[in-house]
Amino acid sequence: MGAKKQDPDFYNRTLETMPKEKRIETLTKKLKEIVAYAYKHSIAFQKKMKEAGCVPEDIKSIDDLEKLPITRREDLIEAQKKLPPFGGFEAVNTKKMRRIYVSPGPIYEPGPWEYSEIGWTQALYAAGFRKGDIVQNTFNYHMWPFSFILDDSLKMIGCSVVPAGPGNSLVQLTIMRKLKVTGVVGTPSFLMTLAQRAESEGLRPQKDLSLKAGFVSAEMLPETMRNLLETKLGIRVSQAYGTVTTGCLAYECPKRGGMHLCDDVIVEIVDPDTGKKMPDGSTGEIVATNFNRTYPIIRYATGDLSYFIGNACPCGRTAPKLGRILGRTDQVTKVKGTFIHPWQTDDIIAKFPEIEKYQVVITRQGHMDQMTFKIELRDESVNKDILRAKLQRAIKEILNVRGEVDFVVRGAIYERHKKIDDQRTWDD
Ligand SMILES: [Zn+2]
Repeated sequence: MGAKKQDPDFYNRTLETMPKEKRIETLTKKLKEIVAYAYKHSIAFQKKMKEAGCVPEDIKSIDDLEKLPITRREDLIEAQKKLPPFGGFEAVNTKKMRRIYVSPGPIYEPGPWEYSEIGWTQALYAAGFRKGDIVQNTFNYHMWPFSFILDDSLKMIGCSVVPAGPGNSLVQLTIMRKLKVTGVVGTPSFLMTLAQRAESEGLRPQKDLSLKAGFVSAEMLPETMRNLLETKLGIRVSQAYGTVTTGCLAYECPKRGGMHLCDDVIVEIVDPDTGKKMPDGSTGEIVATNFNRTYPIIRYATGDLSYFIGNACPCGRTAPKLGRILGRTDQVTKVKGTFIHPWQTDDIIAKFPEIEKYQVVITRQGHMDQMTFKIELRDESVNKDILRAKLQRAIKEILNVRGEVDFVVRGAIYERHKKIDDQRTWDD
């Protein structure tokens, strides 16, 4: 058995250290192939191209992507309503889908039979995960695709996975000790819960745990929080950025200072209003094109704002870097790693005619997101305890995240209020 020696630094050295021109050439070739493929197999994409007056032959370079319209999450949801279940964006029939992912919305997205995208895998490798590691996956496996995608990515490296999901911090720590878990993945806030629990139980991470590496995603990771996590857990904690729809888009290397773009995706920074490319270094919306043959996604606008960092990185990777996520282009926000759309909160409130006005306020308590529905009532005489319980249940059902309910006096919510008021501040 000629077991292949593991590269100390790169998941795929050839791809990750490719000269710039070679990278552009490789991506251009893949782009032309996927555009032709998606045009042939995805009815939604073919329709979009025809509406833009384009044929696949018009796309000769990465810059030509500008000719194609962008697709937003709302477009996917709208298309899925008209043409269930996938809106015509799928390129194969369900027999060739290993999984059908359901995200809150609900939105349905096909997963390939053989998972082969390398984005999350590159990210995990750069974070220090290696073959033979035992990894506790604390992302939610329930109605949330991301956990399974990471699970598949860890398999590609050769890690064993403990599918733990979030919650039960004390049991999680017991699992870590008994199984000598070497890697942990999860949201920054849940890793913080684990770290704090370990501390309160008197565990000394360096001595009592076998952890070597930590990986977080789906939520913001302020540097102060990262420092705390690294100190408390005694490991390096790295992050990556991506979406379930497009896959991983960028990840941190050990040198940090931004996130390298993954090698199986094209990332653009565009003007959210025009869809045109922003000058290098300027802030704009992150738009991604992947090469997924089950669910080809061409020019998906993430709604997140960022910018490119041009400098060469001392780690040796040559892919450009994405700066940090600066915010959103819209009213959509993320709470505990889950997107909250204004139309979803409208849906919840529409069920309760006794409500006059509402506002969702997002805050941070400690290292956790907190979501509160401020409610003005039409009639103060309703039973608030019953209404509160019903509302909380509807919030959890529709948003998949717990929310508090706060009844406020009439007039407490300003007339021209934001539906979702995100009051969180990030310190870096
Ligand atoms: Zn680097």
